[in-house]
Amino acid sequence: MRRVIIVDYLFVLPVKQLSGSFFVGTQYHKSKLPAKQQDRRMAKDMYEEAIAGLKKLLSAKGELEAVAVTKIRQLTAELEESSGKVFDPVERIRTGFDHFKKEKYEKNPALYEKLAKGQSPKFLVFACSDSRVCPSHILNFQPGEAFIVRNIANMVPPYDQKKYSGGGAAIEYAVLYLKVENIVVIGHSCCGGIKGLMSIPDDGTTQSDFIEEWVNICKTAKAKVKAECNNLDFTEQCTLLEKEAVNVSLGNLLTYPFVREAVGKKTLSLKGGHYDFLKGSFELWNLDFSLSPSLSA
Ligand SMILES: [Zn+2]
Repeated sequence: MRRVIIVDYLFVLPVKQLSGSFFVGTQYHKSKLPAKQQDRRMAKDMYEEAIAGLKKLLSAKGELEAVAVTKIRQLTAELEESSGKVFDPVERIRTGFDHFKKEKYEKNPALYEKLAKGQSPKFLVFACSDSRVCPSHILNFQPGEAFIVRNIANMVPPYDQKKYSGGGAAIEYAVLYLKVENIVVIGHSCCGGIKGLMSIPDDGTTQSDFIEEWVNICKTAKAKVKAECNNLDFTEQCTLLEKEAVNVSLGNLLTYPFVREAVGKKTLSLKGGHYDFLKGSFELWNLDFSLSPSLSA
């Protein structure tokens, strides 16, 4: 993979700036070290020299095109990580933003001019805080498309002005002011929050300050899975709970009067989803709430 990046980088740079910059001056005494040690040492030396070469190029970046500078920063960060050097969060953020600005922001001026005037996303999305399941990434949401709430185990708490004002504020704003047309609650495979819920002992004792109290929002889903699928092993039960908890969250959405009203008027639909990153699959489903007229009034 590193080689691909290096090749990519070579294409970007003018040839004259590459000459003499990399992989020069190191002598390897192959006969004195076993093969594996030689390989490791060579790799380490090559990384360090590559990093030094790239830094030297960066210091003379006036001559380089901006895109080449961005590539060099990315490559430098990756090489430093590979060679065991300390991760630099500031550099990571800088290269990340450089990439976004060059590749997205500056290439879509019409989109960002439109977004500067306001937003009217079609979706309110509840997703887990898990770093592997970013909805913008897995569903390719572009800026302006989705209003997103992320929390442990993608749970929607029931209407409670004191206990859950953060979640309530997001739902209220999305439904009443942004007038989103869809609310999607997305669960996912290997969810730590769901495992946490499944692991709370039957006597209800908890060990954390916040986590177990939070995931207990979906304790009715856990009770259902335990009652109906007691024959399954823990992992299988967790997978089922990842989906059942989504259904409880969809039900909790109906405890918000403005959600009930919009669903009743059919200006808002509620959907459940489950992203499985082991299989690379995504399920989407609707729940038929069969709201009575009195509920939607
Ligand atoms: Zn999760």
